[in-house]
Amino acid sequence: MESKYAEWIKEYVERSQGRLRGSCGSAAEEMSVRFPELHMVRGFVVPADPTRTDYSDELPTVEMELESRRLAWDNECGVTQHFWCEDTDGTKYDPTVGQFREGIALVYIEYDPLKHGPTPLGKCPDCGELVFPPSDGFCDATCRTLFTKYMDGINV
Ligand SMILES: [Zn+2]
Repeated sequence: MESKYAEWIKEYVERSQGRLRGSCGSAAEEMSVRFPELHMVRGFVVPADPTRTDYSDELPTVEMELESRRLAWDNECGVTQHFWCEDTDGTKYDPTVGQFREGIALVYIEYDPLKHGPTPLGKCPDCGELVFPPSDGFCDATCRTLFTKYMDGINV
């Protein structure tokens, strides 16, 4: 890695006092601002497996049913979402790679809505399940009705 990038990452890690989990987005953004020749990439990381080149069965797909999609994007048990930086050659610079277990090789896969389907909009205010577009923010009409009734009950 070019030493200016390695130096910046080292400085970033020191400044963050090693708290890297959950800060990949802001770190990659900061790095791409500091080095305009880099751009920020959103995607997934999976542990490298030397016996395979295709990891698509570990990632969400555009064909997935809602229940599988919720599991795939679940923060606890789903895929590892991640942000990193790349230069125009596709070389990767990951300012928060230190959050992953040392010595494990990682594969970086850029998020592609045509392959991986929609990203979660957030959680349904009624049941707390992940909601995906198209949606008004609720899973369905039942959740919307229950939540509206609940809010009406609070507001009387
Ligand atoms: Zn719901």
